[in-house]
Amino acid sequence: MIPFNKPLLSGNELAYIADTVACGKISGDGKYTKKCHDFFEKEYGFKKVLLTTSCTDALEMAAILLDIKSGDEVIAPSYTFVSTVNAFVLRGAKIVFADSTSDHPNIDPDHVSKLITPRTKAIVVVHYAGVACDMDAIMDLSKKFNIPVVEDAAQAIDSYYKDRPLGSIGAFGTFSFHETKNIIAGEGGMLVINDEKYIHRAEIIREKGTNRSSFFRGEVAKYSWVDIGSSFLPSDIIAAYLYAQLENKNKIQEKRKEIWQLYYDNLKIGIISPSFRLPVLPSYSTNNAHMFYIVCESLNHRNNLIKHLKDSGVHAVFHYLSLHTSEYFKGKHTGECLKNSDFFTDTLLRLPLYYDLDNTEIDFICEKIIKYTNESN
Ligand SMILES: *Cc1c(COP(=O)(O)O)cnc(C)c1O
Repeated sequence: MIPFNKPLLSGNELAYIADTVACGKISGDGKYTKKCHDFFEKEYGFKKVLLTTSCTDALEMAAILLDIKSGDEVIAPSYTFVSTVNAFVLRGAKIVFADSTSDHPNIDPDHVSKLITPRTKAIVVVHYAGVACDMDAIMDLSKKFNIPVVEDAAQAIDSYYKDRPLGSIGAFGTFSFHETKNIIAGEGGMLVINDEKYIHRAEIIREKGTNRSSFFRGEVAKYSWVDIGSSFLPSDIIAAYLYAQLENKNKIQEKRKEIWQLYYDNLKIGIISPSFRLPVLPSYSTNNAHMFYIVCESLNHRNNLIKHLKDSGVHAVFHYLSLHTSEYFKGKHTGECLKNSDFFTDTLLRLPLYYDLDNTEIDFICEKIIKYTNESN
């Protein structure tokens, strides 16, 4: 069986874990956490980054930092992972779901503009598959209505909107190092803080509501409880794994892009009268090869293809189910039908993509898809 994902050991992961253990400090904000922070601030020019235990945690921190309260409205795409909106639901927010664009699962800025009310307190965008949302359009709305933007950049490491790294454009960017992402630590995440006014409080919230970070820098004589918060910081063992991956970031990215391109070229060339669409990349976005997906004709077509691939030993998987129709949200969605989100719910199919996937396996997967498609047309 060709699995959907295989977590990568890229080089020094185990050595760095051994090193942090030998140093005698494996709790948060140790040597490797600092190395990761420095890496991200240098590589992408992020103003301030804080490692967290997950992207979910980074989103929860963003919701606290934005002072989201009961009755506040938060606009977000329906075609996304639960955490994108659950973080705001935990603060009492009402989620107002926006549709995807017709040619890509990313949020449709025109639809967002129609959903803004005086109660809108945040706009959350998701750079799906590491492909940038239309950030000029989103940031124009942000400025016009004075609404902060959170970029859920969980899938978007090393990807850019025009010349700007994703995660650096809104007030906050949130990243994931879950084992299914490009750069991994098992479980792990990061909050990027682009608006200086949130930095001080972010450190407090991440340290259980205490000013422990200031204390360790010698800025206060003792540390105490000063705000709400939680334990959002990861062990240095996690950071050690992550740092080893960051050292190999370019190598990992190059390989993933090669795999992505091979899929794209094989499928584009092989298929006569296609019954599915290949991914679309807007000119303002780079491709970080987080994901290779195709968009099938219908739910039926996708299910048949999943089964066909499974019978051939290939694990291909569908993705999000529109959140506005989820069991939790069903009675709460007051808005209109979100037809693009529902369309991608039914038709998007993700193919295996991981560092160790070799060319013969990619050729095999493409061959199966091409044969199936050409024969069923
Ligand atoms: C993976 C993912 C998350 C969650 O990341 P965790 O680190 O597992 O919490 C959130 N949003 C999106 C868009 C994701 O792809």
